[in-house]
Amino acid sequence: MTVLRAICVYCGSSAGNHPRYADSAKRLGQLLARRDITLVFGGGRIGLMGIMADAALDAGGRVIGVIPSGLKTAEIAHADCTELVVTPSMHARKEKMFELSDGFMALPGGIGTLEEVIEVITWRQLRFHDKPIVIVDDGGYWQPLKALFDATVAAGFAHADLNSLCRFVATVEEAVTVLASSPAPLRPDAPAERL
Ligand code: AMP
Repeated sequence: MTVLRAICVYCGSSAGNHPRYADSAKRLGQLLARRDITLVFGGGRIGLMGIMADAALDAGGRVIGVIPSGLKTAEIAHADCTELVVTPSMHARKEKMFELSDGFMALPGGIGTLEEVIEVITWRQLRFHDKPIVIVDDGGYWQPLKALFDATVAAGFAHADLNSLCRFVATVEEAVTVLASSPAPLRPDAPAERL
């Protein structure tokens, strides 16, 4: 079983146009605080990121924001994180988020969310790590991505085990349960130079 000290959550810097997304982000923040799991996230105070971080902090949780110096303007950095790590670049940020976390989760989000979760799946496919990854298919939001994954397998561009590299789940509660019940990683600390 994976020991979940910290989970990295990728999610929208917008809140989306359905209230269910904000509700899930809030429930996840509260759940992580209750379970004493540190939230690692992109460090922004806007959109689902801000809603999730506020909910975790309000519930007494520990929150680490990891933000590149270029994005750390007064308007978007979350000032109240337990810890705010400022990195010199986006690449350094993603590596830091990886290092700090025992598992990864994507909530609904846009291109930034997509890029971050695809990268961590790619690293897993390359066997740079074997930390668990889940995609929260809230209200079916990520069905087009699931269909694209299936299409890459059907067309011979990905192994059939692509869908075992990351699990699609329906709710944030299920996501935490799946991460916690995943086999313990055998390569939890991939050398940074491989990433
Ligand atoms: P998007 O899904 O395009 O809204 O991008 C959200 C993802 O990209 C988050 O997981 C963040 O890590 C990162 N990101 C995008 N915009 C910001 C921002 N203003 N502040 C911090 N992180 C951001």
